[in-house]
Amino acid sequence: MTATTIEVSTIDASDWSPCISATLSRGCGACCIAPSISSPIPGMPNGKPSGVRCIQLNEHNLCKIFGQPERPKVCSAFDSDDAICSGGPEQALAILLDLESATD
Ligand code: SF4
Ligand code: SF4
Repeated sequence: MTATTIEVSTIDASDWSPCISATLSRGCGACCIAPSISSPIPGMPNGKPSGVRCIQLNEHNLCKIFGQPERPKVCSAFDSDDAICSGGPEQALAILLDLESATD
């Protein structure tokens, strides 16, 4: 993944397409809500369960700690996939929740 950073409300956040929707003028954030994360996240020391919004996801649906060392490695490793992401945030959330429950 290639990502640069932009300032969003004084927070460095990813502008990695397709995470930012041109029609919504905000990020998607589905993969920061649907999956469970077992590694510690700043503010969520035990990680997070599936379907729970990450505390580091800002009001623009962008990661507040993008590019910082405390961002979980699993987040950096997650790559976009047309099959998940191309239909927009709601569809991505539904697909990821289905995948999460299928692998639970
Ligand atoms: S589900 Fe896809 S488009 Fe949405 S934030 Fe994650 S990688 Fe980006
Ligand atoms: S740390 Fe950032 S990238 Fe990872 S789930 Fe939370 S908001 Fe998303």
